[in-house]
Amino acid sequence: MPHMPLAALCVLLSSVLLSAEPAARWYKGNLHTHTFWSDGDDFPDSVARWYKDNGYHFLALSDHNVMQQGEKWFVPAKRRGGKDIAEKYLAAFTSDRVKVRGEGDAREIRLKTFDELQAEFGEAGRFLMIPSIESTDSRVHVNVTNLRDPILPDKAIDTSTSQGIVAAMRHALETTRAQRAATGRPMFAHLNHPNFKWAVTAEEILQVDQQRFFEVYNGHPTVYNEGDAVHASTERMWDIILAERLGRLGQPALFGLATDDSHNYHIQPDRVNAKSSVTGRGWVMVRADELTPDALVAAIEKGDFYCSTGVTLKDVVRTADSLTVEVDPEPGLQYTVEFIGTRRGYDHRSEPVKDDKGEVLHVTRRYSEDVGRVLQSSKGVRATYKFKGDELYVRARVTSSRHKSPIVIAGEMERAWTQP
Ligand SMILES: [Zn+2]
Ligand SMILES: [Zn+2]
Repeated sequence: MPHMPLAALCVLLSSVLLSAEPAARWYKGNLHTHTFWSDGDDFPDSVARWYKDNGYHFLALSDHNVMQQGEKWFVPAKRRGGKDIAEKYLAAFTSDRVKVRGEGDAREIRLKTFDELQAEFGEAGRFLMIPSIESTDSRVHVNVTNLRDPILPDKAIDTSTSQGIVAAMRHALETTRAQRAATGRPMFAHLNHPNFKWAVTAEEILQVDQQRFFEVYNGHPTVYNEGDAVHASTERMWDIILAERLGRLGQPALFGLATDDSHNYHIQPDRVNAKSSVTGRGWVMVRADELTPDALVAAIEKGDFYCSTGVTLKDVVRTADSLTVEVDPEPGLQYTVEFIGTRRGYDHRSEPVKDDKGEVLHVTRRYSEDVGRVLQSSKGVRATYKFKGDELYVRARVTSSRHKSPIVIAGEMERAWTQP
């Protein structure tokens, strides 16, 4: 080896050492989307293309009770607006990759399968399709990410009762656990939109300790993330569950996801309204070593991800004594960083919510203000919270000065949420 200055040798050696370790980076993805395989209003390849073209790295098409497997022929004439969508589709994609049969109103177009979609849109390090399903009954919806075979609701469970809600959540988790054990394939279930039809309360989730993930934000307009005068918001539910699990029940933390739950792909931005479930509403940013299902699921299970509806974070640093959040700012926007948590010894009393006649309602109970307090708040792009030592958990929420656009929910600001 020729003579080399020590500094240069050190640089060389450290680059060799660093390159031996894969560099973790942030990947953007949406884990909840619908297509013509169920009640979404576009072809799966059109949907995949939208996400790939709009800066996403991974996408799960989570159709209701069906995976994109086998033969399925779509009949444009049988669906409202279907003929126009089919024309748009046939014009956008080359005809040799699309299978069409029949004429006139009997015309059918074959839907692409998961394997075909991954073969066409998947690109190493750039874009990944992940198998998914939305296991759906009338009230409880659970997405399972990276499964191999469909996971369906148990028809024998009656989810019109609180017991049935708990049983349905347990069933989804149990069948996911069994399939994971049988296949050796990493997969996870997350509870969707608990406030859809006001179906699931915090106390019901607390009865299901294996439930590790839920949607703190779902982009569909009728899922009531924000709650109302009677119902807790999903974020309030998150704090109640975290406080009770970590403070009293000795159970693991619950992680929050943001998703689109998109169904509508043909609405012009200026026509979007409070009935539109469009793309680009909520997503997760996962810090993983590589863009593979295994690496993404492993990072998500570690809680190394955050949710966003518009705010991008440069970094989230957790140490033994602090949590630091740094925003990747956009010009002209202001940011508020709040650290939210619950302290050991919090007042855990709760009360049922009653109607005018004094009847107890089937809604999340009311808890004290000790649960989910804002522990620190500041303006700016970087903030550190130093633990006092008595926190059961701390999580950060960053709110931008910009409204979420297009407007689906009035007053909604762009946000990011870190995991507890
Ligand atoms: Zn759903
Ligand atoms: Zn859905």
